[in-house]
Amino acid sequence: MKTLGKYSFGLGDRFGHQGQAQLKAIIAASDKGIEITPVWNKSNREHVTIGTQPIDVRREADGVTKNAGFNKPYFVDADHINIGTVDRFIECSDFFTIDVASYIGMKAEEKDILDFLSDAENYSGEVKLKGTEFSFKTSKLQIKEIAEKYLFAAVKARDIYKKIEDVKGYGSFITEVSMDEVTRPQTPIELFFILKMLASENIPVQTIAPKFPGRFNKGVDYTGDPLLFARDFESDLLVIDYAVSEFGLPDNLKMSIHSGSDKFSIYPFIGSIIKKYDKGIHLKTAGTTWLEEIIGLAESGGEGLEFVKEIYFKSLDIKEELCAPYADVIDIKASSLPSKQEVSLWNGKRFSESLKHEPGNSCYNPDMRQLIHVAYKLAGLQIKTFYALLEANEKIVSKCVYENIYYRHINRLFDLN
Ligand SMILES: [Zn+2]
Repeated sequence: MKTLGKYSFGLGDRFGHQGQAQLKAIIAASDKGIEITPVWNKSNREHVTIGTQPIDVRREADGVTKNAGFNKPYFVDADHINIGTVDRFIECSDFFTIDVASYIGMKAEEKDILDFLSDAENYSGEVKLKGTEFSFKTSKLQIKEIAEKYLFAAVKARDIYKKIEDVKGYGSFITEVSMDEVTRPQTPIELFFILKMLASENIPVQTIAPKFPGRFNKGVDYTGDPLLFARDFESDLLVIDYAVSEFGLPDNLKMSIHSGSDKFSIYPFIGSIIKKYDKGIHLKTAGTTWLEEIIGLAESGGEGLEFVKEIYFKSLDIKEELCAPYADVIDIKASSLPSKQEVSLWNGKRFSESLKHEPGNSCYNPDMRQLIHVAYKLAGLQIKTFYALLEANEKIVSKCVYENIYYRHINRLFDLN
């Protein structure tokens, strides 16, 4: 049975040029005693947007690990796939993020709901999570409402899981179930019954990605009350533990945080809570690497700087089009975006400081950062030029990528400083 290690990082590398720098950060963490399993993830949406294939991610992961002599486990994640998009990922992926968000709220068949309710009946009333102070109260009515909201999604997750298992075979891949791309968070009680549903559907889920309170906008920090997040995160962790022992789910089942990248203000809470209970975590960092490519090219000056300025100018022209697919996960204040005229006068340092996620820097502009985050399509339209620039400025770009993953993400999460 393939199992995912205690700590794992989802490393998004949309253009497939930074795997080596990302791996270097993983190796640096290992040198400090933190073993993190790298997982290269790329969603169908990202592939479609820039015209790449799932096999490209596999080639990159195999290539960079081989070159580095990295002989520990690593995975290739078919990120946010569903029944319609999974096919072309099956062969070359060994980690599947089954996204059931769009099925939430659809009602399962009456018989399935009744079966689940009779099965879950003994959890109505007070449920005490053994070995902890934590307990929650439910009622038959509440369980029924949860079943009506989530059971259909669990059944769909099973359909997608089966489709993969039929080709790859049981135990040969990691299964994640994600429900994060929705507007309303799932409560710990809902999570408990969702896990029961996934267990009843015989899905050997190793990571689960719920939606948490607060906003997880792309590429910028968490918006919301970090204490509220911490409260739910801790409860969810205990719920997962209990669900594993109650429902016979894989005992390495852990939380997957789809952060949309860079949720620095909640990292210390995640870090201290997983430490407190000695639990693992899977953290997806997604598009943060693409932003480092832009930052690196800006710092390179010359043609690199001209190219990223052009990307920004075009992104202003077609802002609505770029933002539409990401409407739920970005929050851009148009009035805070610098004008073309202003940016045309910037040098590389000024451009880079606007985008670099250093909250203490007065030049840092989270609105511009979010816009560039969703503007990768524009680099995809000039892919030859973009790749040539990345290759010509490899040293500076890979340094940005490495420092971002190692110092801003890994160090913060595991408090290595
Ligand atoms: Zn997600």
